[in-house]
Amino acid sequence: MRIIVPIKQVPETSNVKMDPVTGTVIRAGVETVVNPLDLYALEAALRLKAQHGGTVTAITMGPPPAIKALKEAVAMGCDDAVLVSDRKFGGSDTWATSYTLAQAVRKLGAYDLIIAGERATDGDTAQVGPGIASWLDIPIATYVARIGALAEGRLTLERLVEEGYQQLSVPLPALLTVVKEIAVPRLPTLRGKKAAKHCDIPVFSAENMGLDPSFLGLKGSPTKVVKIDAPKVTRGGKTVQAGDDEAVSAAVGQLIGFLEEKGLV
Ligand SMILES: Cc1cc2nc3c(=O)[nH]c(=O)nc-3n(C[C@H](O)[C@H](O)[C@H](O)COP(=O)(O)OP(=O)(O)OC[C@H]3O[C@@H](n4cnc5c(N)ncnc54)[C@H](O)[C@@H]3O)c2cc1C
Repeated sequence: MRIIVPIKQVPETSNVKMDPVTGTVIRAGVETVVNPLDLYALEAALRLKAQHGGTVTAITMGPPPAIKALKEAVAMGCDDAVLVSDRKFGGSDTWATSYTLAQAVRKLGAYDLIIAGERATDGDTAQVGPGIASWLDIPIATYVARIGALAEGRLTLERLVEEGYQQLSVPLPALLTVVKEIAVPRLPTLRGKKAAKHCDIPVFSAENMGLDPSFLGLKGSPTKVVKIDAPKVTRGGKTVQAGDDEAVSAAVGQLIGFLEEKGLV
């Protein structure tokens, strides 16, 4: 089974700052990590490989330092990794990002499964996984919480939905996005770290993938960030004083009265 896992390098902090002029994420000077939710995709892929044999390839689109994320994936147990990197990709929205990643997957040749994270902790759109599937015209199952049997080219899955779990089977090749419930990500091993140190990571560029420039980067991105605003939080609350135990029940009564007045209870 050949499995491809798209992973994204994201700022370490959850306090992502935006450039108010360009409307894009400020990445300069911020420590980066593998998108935490992508570790679950890597783990799911590595478990499937242990069960069915095959290979796991990690792939990321980003600037050259994103190679650090790929090395971490190899240290976890991936067989190889690919960096998709070119100045022409700068400023890509999710449409252009998923187009570029889908073309990179095509360049890799035959595959059975693509497993992406549920969403990236910085951009947070959850659009790139479904976008890749759409460009490749393959079935997609999002929010996968359990992967079951593989039989006659179909994989049995359970999707996390609001009411519980939805069971389905998808024909391969397919793309899954997985939720945290799928498995606990393993830590890199010493052997894996050594493999990561010595592995060669090819770079796919716009030119060597033969991509249509009008689909790439900022120019090829239909999303335009018009304005960014930080929401103003105004709390017109009520403070109730309760100096001693006796005053507490009166204070609770006042608070309930306040909430009833607002129609909240
Ligand atoms: C107008 C515009 C301009 C932008 N300019 C820039 C820019 O200059 N530089 C920049 O870095 N970002 C830029 N972005 C953000 C960029 O669109 C997102 O970083 C990217 O498309 C991923 O979207 P997301 O973070 O919402 O990922 P999600 O869709 O939430 O990610 C879901 C999953 O997709 C996979 N995935 C996502 N991104 C990647 C990736 N790059 N490589 C491999 N797998 C991936 C992972 O498995 C991830 O868990 C821009 C966005 C817009 C709208």
